Amino acid sequence: MPEPGVLVVNAGSSSLKVKLFPAGDAVLVERIGGDSRLVASFGIDEERRVAHHDEALRLVLERLGQRLPAGGIRAVGHRVVHGGVHYSRPVAIDDAVEAIIEELSALAPLHNPANLEGIRAARGLLPEVPQVAVFDTAFHAGMPRRAFLFGLPMRLYREERVRRYGFHGTSHAYVSRRAATLLGRPLEALKLVTLHLGNGASAAAVAGGRSVDTSMGFTPMDGLLMGTRSGDIDPGVLLHLLRGGLSVDDLDRILNRESGLLGLSGVSNDMRDVRHAAEAGQPDAAAALEVFAYRIAKTVGAYAAAMGGLDAVVFTGGIGENDARIRAESMAGLGFLGLRLDDERNRRNDAHIGAEGAAVEVLVVPTDEERMIADATAETAGLAARPPRATEEAR
Ligand code: ADP
Repeated sequence: MPEPGVLVVNAGSSSLKVKLFPAGDAVLVERIGGDSRLVASFGIDEERRVAHHDEALRLVLERLGQRLPAGGIRAVGHRVVHGGVHYSRPVAIDDAVEAIIEELSALAPLHNPANLEGIRAARGLLPEVPQVAVFDTAFHAGMPRRAFLFGLPMRLYREERVRRYGFHGTSHAYVSRRAATLLGRPLEALKLVTLHLGNGASAAAVAGGRSVDTSMGFTPMDGLLMGTRSGDIDPGVLLHLLRGGLSVDDLDRILNRESGLLGLSGVSNDMRDVRHAAEAGQPDAAAALEVFAYRIAKTVGAYAAAMGGLDAVVFTGGIGENDARIRAESMAGLGFLGLRLDDERNRRNDAHIGAEGAAVEVLVVPTDEERMIADATAETAGLAARPPRATEEAR
């Protein structure tokens, strides 16, 4: 039986990314609401005005027209950032689910409303086709309370839902599953630390296929150093700055867009530029790289303690998959945990980069969130009899 046609939709506030499986044709519409641009992997690059997500999706479906598989589109999978505590796995979308995603916009005001635009556009244009929501938070929804509670008054958790949710879950789930395959061992028997290092960066402690702790928190701002986000910070700093007269919007801008690699280096949010600057002798760029690697190292140590052991560390994301130096720098001090790299294999970005005989393996696993969403969508829509996915196992 041929694989069913599944459309994966990732709607941002002014962009729409669509990928059609199994072929993998991708279309991006950016700057929706202004002078938009439509770029497709099959050689289209158009400038035009696109008013809203509805129109963007209609255009995308037109452009994909000739390329649809024989059975047409059998399901649509939507990336949704926040599923709160409601969803620990993908879910078929109906009006009630749509209402909950809308209600959760309070927790993810930058993301869920945009994701909803995509859902509404697709439900409107493809009313007969099952639609599935796949949540970034789902993989972490089963974390124990010792990991998800902040040390705040309990009523803020109970009444305001302030807790650690975690993000990048689809990626952490996908690379965990791939790691088990690469290690030739069942996922249920493994203790993994997965490191998703891109513009956003997060770590997860994955024990027996479940996320038991993760570095992003109530928002995707916590934890590791990122391209433009600070990661871990003493909340007292925020009070100090606010009392000093900084507005909430200014503080938001600093923490989300002017911090991280960019803020420390003063050069760029892009790892390659920061490395280049450090090599050219800029001390602040060197400091940014040090902080980046140090945060990774201490998180791996903390998660080994959280899980009571460690079988493998898994690198993914643009930096994790490509930057041998950061991998070497972040693992350098972890020999005491049994982590040692094979320098040559690390330089080649091999899948297995741990040294021969080291107690803990180190893997490089390219992430594929869209593939994971497509698989989860096909399964949730009842189209594919596939082996259980990591998102399933996280229940
Ligand atoms: P996003 O989180 O936006 O999806 P990516 O996962 O693509 O981002 O990661 C972007 C980061 O990956 C940037 O900091 C970029 O410098 C880094 N990166 C991409 N390719 C390389 C490379 N060959 N060497 C080092 N860093 C790289």
